[in-house]
Amino acid sequence: MLNSFYAKLSGLFLVMIVGLGIVLAVLGGRTAQRYADEVEQKLNRTLAQEMVPRFEPLLKDSIDRAGIREKITDMTGINRRIEIYLLDRQGELKASFASSATAIDQQRIDMAPIRRFMSGDDLPILGDDPRDQGEHKPFSVAHIEIMGRKQCYLYVILGSEQYASVAGMIEDSYIIQGALIGFGLILLVVAGLGLLLFRRLTQRLRHMQHVVANFEQGHFDQRIDEGANDEIGQLAACFNRMADTLVETMEELRQADRMRRELVANVSHDLRSPLASIQGYLETVHMKDGDLDSDERQRYVKTALRNAQRLNDLVGELFELSKLETEQVEPTIESFPIAELVQDIVMQYEPQAEAQAVELRAELPEHHARVEADIGLVERALSNLIDNAIHYTPEGGHVRVLLTNRERAVRVEVEDTGPGIPEDDLPHIFERFYRVDKSRDREKGGAGLGLAIAKTILELHDRTLEVESTVGEGTTFRFSLPLVASPTRSS
Ligand code: ADP
Repeated sequence: MLNSFYAKLSGLFLVMIVGLGIVLAVLGGRTAQRYADEVEQKLNRTLAQEMVPRFEPLLKDSIDRAGIREKITDMTGINRRIEIYLLDRQGELKASFASSATAIDQQRIDMAPIRRFMSGDDLPILGDDPRDQGEHKPFSVAHIEIMGRKQCYLYVILGSEQYASVAGMIEDSYIIQGALIGFGLILLVVAGLGLLLFRRLTQRLRHMQHVVANFEQGHFDQRIDEGANDEIGQLAACFNRMADTLVETMEELRQADRMRRELVANVSHDLRSPLASIQGYLETVHMKDGDLDSDERQRYVKTALRNAQRLNDLVGELFELSKLETEQVEPTIESFPIAELVQDIVMQYEPQAEAQAVELRAELPEHHARVEADIGLVERALSNLIDNAIHYTPEGGHVRVLLTNRERAVRVEVEDTGPGIPEDDLPHIFERFYRVDKSRDREKGGAGLGLAIAKTILELHDRTLEVESTVGEGTTFRFSLPLVASPTRSS
């Protein structure tokens, strides 16, 4: 508890308040005393002057102490707090008349304050007190003639010993006591309010600490109430943003981990089936070697070879995709006539289309636009799309490859009249190993990598591969390539 931020802050604050109280009380006391001195001196400024005519007759030939005392007794009846001294022109004490019995401990009085008083300087001016060396008190002074010597002084100490200390003055004054009590109460109220305020402020910090601790324990949905937009609120907002980023990153990592597991599972599954098949056929050939006629042996070996080819294709595709995805392939951008490329690929696929009784047609714009792309990669992507279109389109269907000139781009579309892709599957067909009809396609040899490769190739060109499909009607894959800035005709 004592170690808490609140305790430290409050402790410091209380020490400051008490310190401030003491400083202000001392300053206030001093000021009050100086003010009292000033008032006393101003009220009695001419006191010495008024006494001179009464005392001078008693100082003609000698100092008539008895006579003077008598006069003083008369006067101290009016003002008891005065002490009277007779000084020569150097400030040497000639005689003293005081109501108090305290001994004289200073025989010579500093003349500087006396001179300032005589020349009419601003009050208060404090002078030496012969009965209290080192103390300075308000006084009144006037010239007086002592035994024919004119430049002597009648020096009257006002207030005597009564206010020698601040403590003494406080003790004596109800007003000062009242003021001090009032001041103390104000300090108490300020201290109380300060502590309440600190409590409120540190409460927000405690709330933050609580939430952060919970977050650390794994409650990742915990967030801090930001409250006011001050430094604490901004810190809370920072933490909340950091927590969001952390949760997002964790989710991404989880997702990546899940995808990695799926990939390993898919790859092992897809590698295992052709491998098992190869092994099966080769074992049969090996074990029944004598029983097999040459046709049968040929058939088994051919099937094993076909599976080996499948395996080879699959590993090749996987390797290709991984290179594309890890961006080890840097597209070599060049300008080429897209129509010619389409024509070439269509020609390559004609035999396959014919074999499946699918009509394959290229519809190309009249003049041959040149695009800027990696010709090898675009060929790979387009081949995958055309291959799929022919592969999934049933006998008697059509596959069209269309080129359309657009503003600063050429649009390439591969359109088929195949079975179409269900709406639910559409968002997933570009994922690795995703097949709409899993069982059938695996047997047919499709690994579910062709579209992933095509999409990644277009992404490397900062382009997107789009798909539009209606079940029972057909599918269209579409992308565009940038036109060369000033198109030229192909040779
Ligand atoms: P595959 O090697 O299985 O063809 P792809 O990545 O090329 O893998 O395609 C993913 C899936 O998308 C296919 O399994 C298929 O179900 C679906 N598909 C792709 N092209 C077409 C198309 N033209 N018509 C219908 N379905 C298609």
